[in-house]
Amino acid sequence: MRVAVVGSGAIGSPLVIQLLAESDIEEIRVIDPDRVELSNLPRQPWFTPSDIGKFKAQVIRDYEPGRIHGIVESVTKHNVPELFQGVDLVFDGSDNWAAREAIQQWAFVSLRPWIFSSALRLDGMSAFLAPQFSCLSCLFGNLQQGPRCFEAGVMGTVTLAVAGQAMVLFHQYRDHQNEPESWPQGLFLIDGREERVRRIGMSTVRCGHGVG
Ligand SMILES: [Zn+2]
Repeated sequence: MRVAVVGSGAIGSPLVIQLLAESDIEEIRVIDPDRVELSNLPRQPWFTPSDIGKFKAQVIRDYEPGRIHGIVESVTKHNVPELFQGVDLVFDGSDNWAAREAIQQWAFVSLRPWIFSSALRLDGMSAFLAPQFSCLSCLFGNLQQGPRCFEAGVMGTVTLAVAGQAMVLFHQYRDHQNEPESWPQGLFLIDGREERVRRIGMSTVRCGHGVG
């Protein structure tokens, strides 16, 4: 199986660590345009002070170059066909609405699933989105980019919990790849105040947003 991780910050970098433990994942494509900054270090445990100024995607690739491919680029609607060529599933760790819309467009065209992740202050969210069933518009309608992590702040325990929840969704999908009725559905909300995870179910009506 080949996967892509969009963004290698506070959610994306712990996702990659967990994905390395999965022996059936032959390629992890890490896509991030940013360089490591001092302010990243507390919540992004991949990086050390000696990495400051280096591209995150390249620092992470050097951890296991055979399986990790580092790409220093932003994900846009124009480059997704090329960036995700041959990829079976995409993880979102982007903290960026335009990137998520580009991933969603790829999912509709390729009919492959992706896992949405988001964290802000003490709240986290994740969802498994297979284009046959549900999409970003099913979840959020016409909502656009809200405040981003670097503006509003986020707790490291919440980003780690979101990355962990994304991996739970990935396992539920991978263990039932040929049984779509068993794929995870709904939006998972991680509440850092109450220390609990809630699931909001979505309508069983199939998504029609990608049609036309
Ligand atoms: Zn939809």
